[in-house]
Amino acid sequence: MSQPASPASRRRFLTLALACPACAVAARVGIAAEHAAPKGGHDAPHWSYEGPTGPAQWGKLAPGDALCGIGREQSPVNLTEAIPAATPDLATRWAPATAEIIHNGHTIQVNWPAGSEAVIDRQPHQLLQFHFHHPSEHVIDGRSFPLEVHFVHRNASGGLAVVGLFFTPGPANPTLEAIWSAMPTQAGDKTRLAAPLDIASFLPGDPTSYRYAGSLTTPPCSEVVSWVVLRQPVSASPAQIERFAALFPMNARPVQPLNRRKLLLDLL
Ligand SMILES: [Zn+2]
Repeated sequence: MSQPASPASRRRFLTLALACPACAVAARVGIAAEHAAPKGGHDAPHWSYEGPTGPAQWGKLAPGDALCGIGREQSPVNLTEAIPAATPDLATRWAPATAEIIHNGHTIQVNWPAGSEAVIDRQPHQLLQFHFHHPSEHVIDGRSFPLEVHFVHRNASGGLAVVGLFFTPGPANPTLEAIWSAMPTQAGDKTRLAAPLDIASFLPGDPTSYRYAGSLTTPPCSEVVSWVVLRQPVSASPAQIERFAALFPMNARPVQPLNRRKLLLDLL
C-alpha cells in the first residue's frame, strides 16, 4: 500500500504517525488498518465484521483494499495438512514493559515500546503491537478457538511477521488479566498498563508453529506477512473470554483459501 489517498485516510495516517512514530513505517504497508479511528464521526472506519461493509465486501470498499477481494495469499487460513519442516524455532526476545492500550473500534490493541523482537526467518523483527480476535481467525483442522492474539513485528526492510497464539477455556490467564483489568471499553479510548508486563509469559511450553506466507486480516489485506501460528493453545478463563466477547461479539475474518501456498509445521 502506498500513501493513503483520501483526506480521511491521510489524516488517520498523520494521527498515527504522531501518536506512534514506530508504527508510521508499518502504516505505509497497510498496518494502519489495525489503528483505525473509532466509530462515529467523519473518520468512521469504512469496514466491519458483519453487514454491508463485512468481509465479503472488503475488496470493494476502497481502491486500496482490492487485495481483500482478489488476493491469492490471504489470511487467516485453516491450518491443516501441513508439511513437516525443519525451520528454526521461533526465538522471542520480548522485554517486560508498560504500554498503551487502545480500543480502536475493531479490537483491543497494545502498542509495545521499542526493545522487544523476535527472530523469524533468520531475521530480527521488532514487536510493534499486539491485539486480539474473538473467535480465533486461524483454525486448526477446522477447529476454532474462542480467542487469538496477534503479535505484529516488522523487520528493517518493512516486512511484517505476525505471531498468532490461541486461547482455550481453562484456568484464568494472569498475563491476560493484567491487560483486561486496564483495557478501555469505549471505541477511541486509551489507557495504560498499570505495571510492567512480561508478555513472554503468554507463550506455551511447546514452540511448534505453523508457518505460511499471508496477509493482514483486516483491510487493506496487504500480502506482506510471514505468519507464525503456535500450535499449542494457552489458557484463558471463560470469564476472561466473555469479557472480551462482550466488547467484540465477533471480530474475526473468515478463513481464506490456501491456493498454491505451502503450509509448514516446524516439527523437525
Ligand atoms: Zn489480527
